[in-house]
Amino acid sequence: MIQTLSDIDLSKKLIKWYSTNKRDLPWRKTKDPYFVWVSEIILQQTRIETGIKYYLNFIKKYPNVKLLARSSKQQLLKTWEGLGYYSRALNMHKAANQVLSVHEGVFPKDYFSLIDLPGVGDYTASAISSICNNEKQGVVDGNVLRFVSRLLKIEDSIDSLNTKKQIKKYITEKMSSSNPGDFNEALMDFGSTVCKPKKFLCNSCVFSLECKANLSNTVKNYPVKSKKNKVVKKEMNYVIIMSHNEKIFLNKRSDKGIWKNLFEFFLIKSNNKTVTNELILKNLSKKFTLKSNKIKLIKSLQHKLSHVELKINFYLVKIKDHKSKMYHFSSLEKIPFPRPLKVVLDDIL
Ligand code: SF4
Repeated sequence: MIQTLSDIDLSKKLIKWYSTNKRDLPWRKTKDPYFVWVSEIILQQTRIETGIKYYLNFIKKYPNVKLLARSSKQQLLKTWEGLGYYSRALNMHKAANQVLSVHEGVFPKDYFSLIDLPGVGDYTASAISSICNNEKQGVVDGNVLRFVSRLLKIEDSIDSLNTKKQIKKYITEKMSSSNPGDFNEALMDFGSTVCKPKKFLCNSCVFSLECKANLSNTVKNYPVKSKKNKVVKKEMNYVIIMSHNEKIFLNKRSDKGIWKNLFEFFLIKSNNKTVTNELILKNLSKKFTLKSNKIKLIKSLQHKLSHVELKINFYLVKIKDHKSKMYHFSSLEKIPFPRPLKVVLDDIL
């Protein structure tokens, strides 16, 4: 059980702090659940600065749920390109279609209808229902977990479901019923701008005299986390195959991985090792007519995912022509790529 601070008026202090420190963000100008949902999904795993750019572009392209439901997955992935975690976009597409079929095109704003949508978990349903429907549903994201675990000196790991549930219960009890949306937004802003992971601003914090971690000078010890999963190192090798008539070979990924449905260059299976020119030639000569045996390593880059650190090598090869899967350079603007591949493509074209 977490030890709460019974005498602290969390809501009053937070709302007061928020009234002068509220960030001016485009999705805060509306209480339309569709727009708030778009912003919440984009902001998962994305920094605010990047999120703003993608949000504005997204709502310009898909100003309502019907247009989103009717868009092609490829178009949607292209809009999402570079943001990562592409399953978010595919779940949005499914959710938009569910809104059309189950809710007659009216985007729901109550917690239980929201949590039924693909890609919407407790956090997103709580945020939307509190902001758009005044429901008392406390939000629990990384910022909130860090702030509350320091405030109350919670010794249990914040990775545990039980700790998350208790923190949710605590903040839901503390939130005022008149403005739960403001309370949640204040909580998230406070965690990300004051009670920051490393550069916490205890000296100017409105909770400095109540915060248990600050009073005991142990802020650095919180939040308590379980041991991190080890980061696995992997290596991938792509060959960019180009023909003389401005075409490039592309393959659509169909596996269940994070790049599913995105396009990629010719991938050489290499058991996580750097490949030799001989191996590349062996792989290519079975399928393509090469212009020459010249193979050029044009770039190697690192790409970090949550538990994997990828080293990706890119080779360039020219071929005479090929019948299938060759895309003209002019069509690439409509094709979605994983971010590291797009970076290389932008470099060479
Ligand atoms: S006093 Fe420091 S640790 Fe405590 S809530 Fe404020 S910023 Fe966070």
